[in-house]
Amino acid sequence: MHTNKKVLIIIALMLILLAAATIINVAINFRDYSYNNALEKSKMTAEVVRDGLTAHMVNGIMDKRDFFLSNISNYDDVKKLWIVRSPKVDTQYGPGLPQEEPRDPMDARVLKSGIMEKQISEDADTASLRVSIPYIASSMDSPNCLSCHHVNEGDVLGVISMEFDISHTRNVGMFTVLRIFGLNVIFIIIALFLTNYYIKPYMELFQNLQEGIKKAHLGDFTHRFTTNIKGEGKEVADDMNDLFEKMQDAFGNIKEQLRTFVARSNISDSDPLHEASSIINELSDIYKFKKTIELDKDKYSIYKRIYHLLEQKFELKHFALYEVNHTRKERNLLFITQGKSFCSHEADIDALECRAYRTSTDIISTDFPELCTSCTCNGEVEYACLPFAINNDYTLVLSISSKTKEELGDISDKITSIKNYLEAAKPVIESKILMDVLRESSLRDGLTGLYNRRFLEEHIEQEQTQIQRDKTYYDILMIDIDFFKLVNDTYGHDVGDTVIKALSEILKESIREADLAIRYGGEEFLILLRHTSPEATQRIASAIHEGFRAKKFIIGSETLEKTLSIGIAKLPQDADSIWKVIKYADIALYEAKNTGRNKIVYFESKMFDGY
Ligand code: GH3
Ligand code: MG
Ligand code: MG
Repeated sequence: MHTNKKVLIIIALMLILLAAATIINVAINFRDYSYNNALEKSKMTAEVVRDGLTAHMVNGIMDKRDFFLSNISNYDDVKKLWIVRSPKVDTQYGPGLPQEEPRDPMDARVLKSGIMEKQISEDADTASLRVSIPYIASSMDSPNCLSCHHVNEGDVLGVISMEFDISHTRNVGMFTVLRIFGLNVIFIIIALFLTNYYIKPYMELFQNLQEGIKKAHLGDFTHRFTTNIKGEGKEVADDMNDLFEKMQDAFGNIKEQLRTFVARSNISDSDPLHEASSIINELSDIYKFKKTIELDKDKYSIYKRIYHLLEQKFELKHFALYEVNHTRKERNLLFITQGKSFCSHEADIDALECRAYRTSTDIISTDFPELCTSCTCNGEVEYACLPFAINNDYTLVLSISSKTKEELGDISDKITSIKNYLEAAKPVIESKILMDVLRESSLRDGLTGLYNRRFLEEHIEQEQTQIQRDKTYYDILMIDIDFFKLVNDTYGHDVGDTVIKALSEILKESIREADLAIRYGGEEFLILLRHTSPEATQRIASAIHEGFRAKKFIIGSETLEKTLSIGIAKLPQDADSIWKVIKYADIALYEAKNTGRNKIVYFESKMFDGY
């Protein structure tokens, strides 16, 4: 119900109650008034009758009493009047007139008790008061009753009975009540009209405010407030309109601006305030995420963080993240939750088998049955595979699976937000990849692909601590091509490069994975053999030495053969620091060169004496 109606009904009820109370009060007062008035009159009439009868008795004209009584009966409102003689009076003076017998039980009772009685009789048309007043013998009266009557003090001499018509007074009362009622009705109507007239606009404004605030709660600030109230009512409406206009502009703007920062899913909130707040929250979370991954060591640390994000923030249960290398077209599984991938192994070997990667579009199984032919789930699992290009070399593929279509539907709602995070991570991953490439290229030699001297310098400290901690031992080989300058001078620099490259290949083939081959200088190489026996060291050194000597370089019609000199020193036997051992290996190499070249020489302390 409208508040306006409620207020009017309450006011009407209050006025009706007030009117009813007034009317009832007036009616009761009128009834009491007419009754008391009639009673007073009856008492006065009884006095007159008593005095009159006494006068008749004193004057000895009691036989004329009936005339006197009938005269009094003609008084206003006196419907009937009669007297009843007591048996004692009858005994003394003989029986009275027939009409002086008790006419009803009230007469008889009052005659006997000497106590006045009264009774009101009412019906729809008439109302009357019936009164019986005893006439008591008293010696105090003047004249003294006992001087004539042979009765005792206080005996009942008779009863004066009357019936008064109180209809008139009652009717006047009723009429007054009706008039009050009529006036009240008019008053109530006027009051309601005035209330309605003055309160209605306030109530309308109130309802209007209520409506507008309800809409505002749902994010709709388009509501405008109108009122024809002047003064403060209008001020309220105008202020509210200003406020709503500002809100509409501000939140609409904020929402649009924020939407440019992050993509939102289709089921975004219609409440701009709510949406702005959720966008800001997401932006803030993404910002924190980005700041965190920026400080991560490498792209793998970032991938790990993405894993935690997907698991904890997005509450994904089954998912896998792949990294695809564009050049090699290989798909590398970075991580997977709960066991085996439902994606066929062929897609790992040939990334083009991965539909999401090949088409660069989101593959969602609910869009089309058997959508991806690489899926080995036989329709028992629903999946969403999302490709995400990082740069020209790498693409990530996030594969999310679920048991039911409904669960996948819930996941689909999160996809936009997941992509926002990946989008934020993209430049950071890209820079980590770039840094890795730069770093790798600065530590590797372009011609041979082996680590360079810089790598050794950077890793030597780390290696040194490990040596001391793990008691690691190394045999270090310093290798140099004999008379290499001649190659350059005779066949040119390119042939020289080919020879250097050929040696590097022999080195790579000759050492194990735990060992390290470094291009130390122009045609000087360093080999760090980790945990090798003296025999193994000798075998490897010989394999390198012999392998290179056996290598034939065909230059036009000529065949070129070259030899190596190798110096070997051991850690910790020869020295306890890598740099020292390298130095000693170099001394051994020098010794090899000085003693005819094309040989393997082990460091001996006496060689050191020359320095
Ligand atoms: P030795 O037997 O005493 O070692 O005589 P050598 O002629 O080999 O002398 P050395 O080891 O000092 O010569 C190094 C030469 O290698 C000098 C330089 O011109 C050449 N060189 C260094 N780096 C490269 C390279 O990358 N390519 C080519 N083609 N030549 C290089
Ligand atoms: Mg050299
Ligand atoms: Mg040389």
